[in-house]
Amino acid sequence: MLRAVIELIYPPRLQCPLCGAQSPDNSLCLDCRQLLDGYAGEQVCCLCGGFLGVRGYHLDGLVYPTPGDSALLREQPPGYEDKLISCGSVNRLGASLSQSSWLMCPACRAENRPFDLARAVAPYEGPVREAVQRLKYRGMKSLAVPLGELMANASLREGAFARTDALVPVPMHPGRERERGYNQSVLLARALGELLQVPVLERVLVKIRETPSQTSLSASQRRKNLQQAFVVAKPEPVKGKILTIIDDVFTTGSTVSIISHLLRQAGARSVLVLTFAGTRQSGKK
Ligand SMILES: [Zn+2]
Ligand SMILES: [Zn+2]
Repeated sequence: MLRAVIELIYPPRLQCPLCGAQSPDNSLCLDCRQLLDGYAGEQVCCLCGGFLGVRGYHLDGLVYPTPGDSALLREQPPGYEDKLISCGSVNRLGASLSQSSWLMCPACRAENRPFDLARAVAPYEGPVREAVQRLKYRGMKSLAVPLGELMANASLREGAFARTDALVPVPMHPGRERERGYNQSVLLARALGELLQVPVLERVLVKIRETPSQTSLSASQRRKNLQQAFVVAKPEPVKGKILTIIDDVFTTGSTVSIISHLLRQAGARSVLVLTFAGTRQSGKK
């Protein structure tokens, strides 16, 4: 009753979760729906999920295959198929699952990624970027639910996610988390866990050190700092499991790579990564 009166006096602002425009029922506005549909139609790197552009186009020197074009499949490094867990056979979510693309971006060709597969809803740009910033820095915790829903939808497009035993949110340093009041990755993981009916392991991984962005350091020094920042505090729930790491943004993949490595060391069978925002990969080296 009280709530109804309050809502009458102060009607809640109903917004598109991405751009913040008015929306009758908090659903995506037409522009953002079209934007996400466009991203969903893009070719992505089979390993890191980096967005590569529209199918059938030639951009930045990378040739994108048109549907049915198998020439590029032969360019994949040998043994790559063994790295991916076989997908599509188990369909716990009851959705029709499409096959992975087989195009690999230059960054994945150049380095050894310790995760089996990463995917994102959209590249970190435009309203997608704004939504992440509202969730992360402007206290809009409630955004985790609609953004988590979009992540759940994106996970249905990739069969490997259907085999996830548990979700592992990227932890924050306790001091930083107290400052912000919440960890957005945990909120996203909880929303996803609820939707997909998958448990969320919130305490197996802890961040014991803050890692300020030390741009003056070399890449290997930064990696070393990052490596010492996380520990698997409880290895038992990880053993033999297929885990999906949940984060808001995948940028270079260095944090999720370190975490994937640690989870594997602790006995995880396979590590996948699902983020709300991802990268845009170009064909340039
Ligand atoms: Zn919108
Ligand atoms: Zn890649």
